[in-house]
Amino acid sequence: MQTRLKKNDQVEILIEDIGSEGEGIGRHEGYTLFVKDTVMGDRALVQVMKTGKTYGYARLIKLTEASVFRVEPRCGVAAKCGGCQLMHVDYQKQLEYKENKVRNCLSRIGGFTQIPMEPISGMEEPYYYRNKSQYPVGRNKDGSLAIGFYAGRTHSIIDTRHCHIGARVNEEILAYLRPFIQDNQIEPYDEAEHRGLLRHILIRVGYSSGEVMVCLVVNGTDIPNKEELVRGLRKIPGMKSICLNVNKEKTNVILGSRIIPLWGEPYITDSIGDVKYQISPLSFYQVNPVQTKKLYDIALEYADLSGDEIVWDLYCGIGTISLFLAQRAKQVYGVEIIPQAILDAKKNAQINGIQNAEFFVGAAEEVLPKKYAGEKIKADVIVVDPPRKGCDQSLLETILAMAPERVVYVSCDPATLARDLKVLCGRDYRLERVRVVDQFCHSIHVETVVLLSRQKPNNRI
Ligand code: SAH
Repeated sequence: MQTRLKKNDQVEILIEDIGSEGEGIGRHEGYTLFVKDTVMGDRALVQVMKTGKTYGYARLIKLTEASVFRVEPRCGVAAKCGGCQLMHVDYQKQLEYKENKVRNCLSRIGGFTQIPMEPISGMEEPYYYRNKSQYPVGRNKDGSLAIGFYAGRTHSIIDTRHCHIGARVNEEILAYLRPFIQDNQIEPYDEAEHRGLLRHILIRVGYSSGEVMVCLVVNGTDIPNKEELVRGLRKIPGMKSICLNVNKEKTNVILGSRIIPLWGEPYITDSIGDVKYQISPLSFYQVNPVQTKKLYDIALEYADLSGDEIVWDLYCGIGTISLFLAQRAKQVYGVEIIPQAILDAKKNAQINGIQNAEFFVGAAEEVLPKKYAGEKIKADVIVVDPPRKGCDQSLLETILAMAPERVVYVSCDPATLARDLKVLCGRDYRLERVRVVDQFCHSIHVETVVLLSRQKPNNRI
């Protein structure tokens, strides 16, 4: 929509939505304005900074009426840190926002009119939930050591001593590492100059096992005084694994591919329900263990297994969902593009004594048609859990051809979810159940589980 607004104009608007960076969104005569530092429900005087054809940006001048959904964030650096975009919004309102976001995507992008939404599954205590934290290491403006998180949209580090969503043990680990880094004159990595040694500190914690891993990501292959490092870190309760990860590339990808063990096992073990998983520094593993258990329970409920089914788990990572489903299925096949993850999946099947799960490396859109057309392997239930870009369109065609009774779609992006459901429900499937699980409390990210059931040809919608 065009606007008459010009740069520096001031207008009063009502903030009605949240944008992808956590900023407020309001409208002036139908024209959309993005306004940082505002919250849904604020009435605000804003000044236009930039206008485009369909939307513009403005900055907050004055709150004329503060939203009742504003809360004081527990974390003192929440406004600057890029991690928690929504900590200043009441948690119940965050949940409502996430549920609405999915509903809107399904109706606007998916074209659904009837949306069988079940109540969002939020956390009772949405703090200290993450089992993985990656702290960049650098320097503050005054040259002192900075360990923390990137500010929103930039790579300047917000020095953080206490992260309110990370595991509680992180603070103790960092309290040991800060003086260790300084005393041993370990140079923080400088991204711009591609110089310095220590890039990131990765900490993983097994939620149910209490096992702890510390992995230092280095632009090199060694670290000074590692005997003392190991001696100090070992004193921390639960410590199981201390290692280096080598990343000498000029890249903003955090981890390199090589691990150098310093002490203990090169992995930690954790379990979800009755299934145990070994997790190495490079493994993909859901970051919110409390909510992951709920997510997988919902996926299992939606899959409605009786023990006779052939189930495919596409985009299976280290086989977490596959092994969870294998407990109730005849046979599970997992497909994942990263070879190391499939090695982990096979090992995880073995340590749990699960024999009815088989894993294949490759792109789901290539492996599935081959197994179906070539080897005539069927599917009663297909679970997909793709990355944000969603499923490859050719994969959706294979799913339609294989005609499983049920499809369970686990999604971390409601827009691509809606796009893919439109294809499946435009043909043989019906949208049965939708449930949002808050895996990333205080961030704008949204995780959804959906159940589709196959319509018999005479029973199409
Ligand atoms: N289901 C797993 C992981 C989901 S994350 C869990 O809950 O832990 C999505 C996974 O899809 C990642 O492991 C990623 O490596 C994998 N992936 C990305 N593109 C893929 C493709 N085309 N085919 C198969 N796997 C893919």
